[in-house]
Amino acid sequence: GFKCGIVGLPNVGKSTLFNALTETAAAQAANYPFCTIEPNVGAVAVPDPRLDKLAEVAKSAQIIPTQLTFVDIAGLVKGASKGEGLGNQFLATIREVDAVAHVVRCFEDSDITHVEGRIAPLEDIETIETELMLADLESLEKRVDNLSKKAKGGDKDSKEQLDLVERALKLLRDGKPARFLERKAEEERAFRMLGLLTSKPVLYVCNVEEGAAADGNAFSKAVFEHAKKEGAVAVAISAKIESEIATLSREERVDFLETLGLEEAGLDRLIRAGYDLLHLITYFTVGPKEARAWTITKGTKAPAAAGVIHTDFEKGFIRAETIAYDDYVTLGGEAGARDAGRLRLEGKEYVVADGDVMHFRFNT
Ligand code: GDP
Repeated sequence: GFKCGIVGLPNVGKSTLFNALTETAAAQAANYPFCTIEPNVGAVAVPDPRLDKLAEVAKSAQIIPTQLTFVDIAGLVKGASKGEGLGNQFLATIREVDAVAHVVRCFEDSDITHVEGRIAPLEDIETIETELMLADLESLEKRVDNLSKKAKGGDKDSKEQLDLVERALKLLRDGKPARFLERKAEEERAFRMLGLLTSKPVLYVCNVEEGAAADGNAFSKAVFEHAKKEGAVAVAISAKIESEIATLSREERVDFLETLGLEEAGLDRLIRAGYDLLHLITYFTVGPKEARAWTITKGTKAPAAAGVIHTDFEKGFIRAETIAYDDYVTLGGEAGARDAGRLRLEGKEYVVADGDVMHFRFNT
């Protein structure tokens, strides 16, 4: 599955947020399977009202949402790239995630120490980013010699890689994260193989005080500006409120949110933002037994989408009976869609669309 790493300086609210995420998942466990994989790794359901609607139409006995995995990556401090704090250990963990949720302290509370003794979210962002860039610089510099030798020896792949590495180095030395590297589509794979910490898409999570949960505050607005400038995404939430919401039942939740002037829980917004950040979309499988959501990357073709369910589905793929979400709902389900001629038979080249209701035909 897809993994989102939670990073940030100490005492910004990472653990509070992570615990709220896993508690929400636990509180919904009756309908929503979840798991805490390791103490710092948890899978949470991606909220999607379409799934409930589909289950209602098909009278499905069970609803199974798709999930996103969050990893609480503690120990990032100034000097981490030089082995301070948990140092290399956490750098290795970041390497494994697909995206980074960067939690930034935007709340004032004299009882909670700030590591730098002041609330300054933009400087905090820079501190974290600098550590990650230093780690990337070091890892790239290590590769240059070897690649140069191979490139001189006439190895074409090494030559291309060296070119990419040198461009990334230049960018990093200019103080810019690797995700800003201009690259051709055909270089994307090689770029990803470099495993650079600053190559991951970033979502800024502004942790604001309770009163600012609905509209944010001056600190979070500065972070939003910053995010906008770099084409990143930001959300403002109150980790404290989220940890309270996490313990409530579904009905209590609605009331509580209403009194706070919130339309939905911040965590739902966060989960969805993480999903968008990763360019993920959802397709559904629906029947009387269960209505289930599956995650794929935008642009995935039908056989690979089927492979998310089971590798046999991909290997033996014949075709996919496909109904768009709106058709499925307005035409009253599969039979209605079929009668109306809205059930399509799609082949191997079909690019799955967000919301498709699919039934795969395959050889075993
Ligand atoms: P981490 O080190 O980033 O994981 O931070 P924690 O989640 O452990 O939070 C550090 C301290 O800040 C804890 O005492 C939290 O209760 C407190 N804290 C977290 N979020 C908020 C918040 O939104 N408002 C206030 N006032 N305190 C918070």
